[in-house]
Amino acid sequence: MIQLDLRSLSHSQLTELVTSWGEPSYRADQIYNWLYRHFVLTVDEMTNLPAALRQRLAKETSLSTIRISQRQYSKDKSATKLLFSLPDGQAVEGVLLKYRKWFSACLSSQAGCRMGCAFCASTLGGLVRHLTVGEMMGQLVLLSREAKNMGGEVRSLVLMGTGEPLDNYNNVLAFLAQAANPAGLNLSYRRVTLSTCGLVPGIRRLANEGLPLTLAVSLHAPTDDLRSELMPINKVYPLAELMSACRYYSETTHRRITFEYALLDNVNDGLDKAQQLARLLKGMLCHVNLIPFNPVAERSFCRSSSSRVEAFYQVLQQEGISVTVRRELGSDITAACGQLRRRRLAKGAASYD
Ligand code: SF4
Repeated sequence: MIQLDLRSLSHSQLTELVTSWGEPSYRADQIYNWLYRHFVLTVDEMTNLPAALRQRLAKETSLSTIRISQRQYSKDKSATKLLFSLPDGQAVEGVLLKYRKWFSACLSSQAGCRMGCAFCASTLGGLVRHLTVGEMMGQLVLLSREAKNMGGEVRSLVLMGTGEPLDNYNNVLAFLAQAANPAGLNLSYRRVTLSTCGLVPGIRRLANEGLPLTLAVSLHAPTDDLRSELMPINKVYPLAELMSACRYYSETTHRRITFEYALLDNVNDGLDKAQQLARLLKGMLCHVNLIPFNPVAERSFCRSSSSRVEAFYQVLQQEGISVTVRRELGSDITAACGQLRRRRLAKGAASYD
């Protein structure tokens, strides 16, 4: 029998479940509290529930479908990378970044990815499957437990791990709604960043949801020729369509879009590219985040020198584009995103015990 994952249930679904079992509705509040305020990993820890209810929950539901199988800490202690294992042998990565006393959690939305970006390790085996709402909540719970053990709490969320979030649209939106529930994690949409490689229909659909989250679009090139080489999705949704969807997004939501631009040495980091980028974004409510590229073993791209990064930055600034160079927290481990997963899967299925 496939068990119901408790973490996949919204508060109202959980209320429906417990009341259908003849329990008062406040039991759902208590369970939600254990799950998302105390981050428990077993039903047995929910000590204020009657023993009979705990037994039934243990028998008919599950809540530990995702587990931590590996941890890496950066030398400067600002970042922790976790490898999560799933019951079907899949693995995904999550990262916890420390900012003073609070943490930002970065998590995955899919096992693998089918978008084929030329600089990314996560897409090398293609898409295996979408993650469920419960698996994304599970990552957030496990990252929140780590943060708690380090004396802090998760206050912001970034969907930038393995996978393209808008390719798993319904699960991702249900997950974010659950994470925002005040009875649980209470993570405001304003503290959420959703990253996309440029799925135009998804961007337009998201705009119509009217959620105050930050949309981060991975741009990485200012022309169709170069972007199609780096990101095959550009052949389906070229820059004109992408920019039109982005303008629609910012006009509809009144939110500033972040454009991510990883600087690849002698590929997209020339001053001509900076000028083209400035022209492309002129007049848009946006911010450009320049990312010094972290080389991936399986890919041949190199990191731009700091002088090239600075020159690129200066052009955008002079053209009146809001721009920053991404601060590199724990770069010794956050570098090469997706490689922990690749190494684990290359050894065989991720251990799950
Ligand atoms: S960069 Fe993102 S969208 Fe592109 S292949 Fe990697 S995980 Fe997929």
